[in-house]
Amino acid sequence: MTRFFCTAILIFLPCTLEAQLRFYWEGEFTDMERTKLTTWIEGTSSALESLVGKLPFDVHVHLHRASSSRGPVPWGQTRRGSRQGILLYVDPTYSLEELKADWTAPHELSHLVIPYFGNRYSWFAEGFASFMQYEVMKAEGVLSDADAEQRFRERVDRAERRYRWHDMPFAEAAPHIRAARQYPTMYWGGALYFRRIDETLAAERDLNLLGVLTSYVSCCRMKRTSMDGLLTQLDEISGTDLFSETMREFKTREGFPEKSL
Ligand SMILES: [Zn+2]
Repeated sequence: MTRFFCTAILIFLPCTLEAQLRFYWEGEFTDMERTKLTTWIEGTSSALESLVGKLPFDVHVHLHRASSSRGPVPWGQTRRGSRQGILLYVDPTYSLEELKADWTAPHELSHLVIPYFGNRYSWFAEGFASFMQYEVMKAEGVLSDADAEQRFRERVDRAERRYRWHDMPFAEAAPHIRAARQYPTMYWGGALYFRRIDETLAAERDLNLLGVLTSYVSCCRMKRTSMDGLLTQLDEISGTDLFSETMREFKTREGFPEKSL
């Protein structure tokens, strides 16, 4: 709707009514705090946009004031449905640098790049956002390539050490991992789905996952689809069967996912 107005009515003006961030302040924030938090989320959103393009919908950002000794963003969640957005509990007394160094906002915003297909595939959704969060932090200049790689490997190695469902495929084990509240194990095992595809695209096709996602966001993000439909779209964009084949492997190969090519 906003795009229609933009092209039909404001044809001679810059098209600023296209999809944008919309902020909601839950709790008391000073003007300075609002400015700082707006700058922070806009920076994270721009970093994501530099990787996959502009999301074709408004992103509703709900910021709840928190007081936390556990870091600037003690909790976050993605909001789905007719309105896409994120909800963050944030302690605005932390500095902008400390806010940017937290992974929660890059993680939650990244979720919005692909649709959500329910609890059954929460390992896929969380794996995706976990893969993306360090890419976003690199794009924002918060993490170096080496730091991001080290963090990724540490988290995957820890997940592998904690994995206890060796007699079932990872996709089948995911609900059990969740029930055991071993969330990081599910997140980082899931991230290996995307890491594998990214590495294979680079090795065999001179492509990468972010390039495929950029095409996906622009052509297909607004199309309603199923999980299988999404994988088919990504396969078609990449000219491979990697997305559906890797899913098949995650559904059939027992044990923790293989870590690398
Ligand atoms: Zn998540």
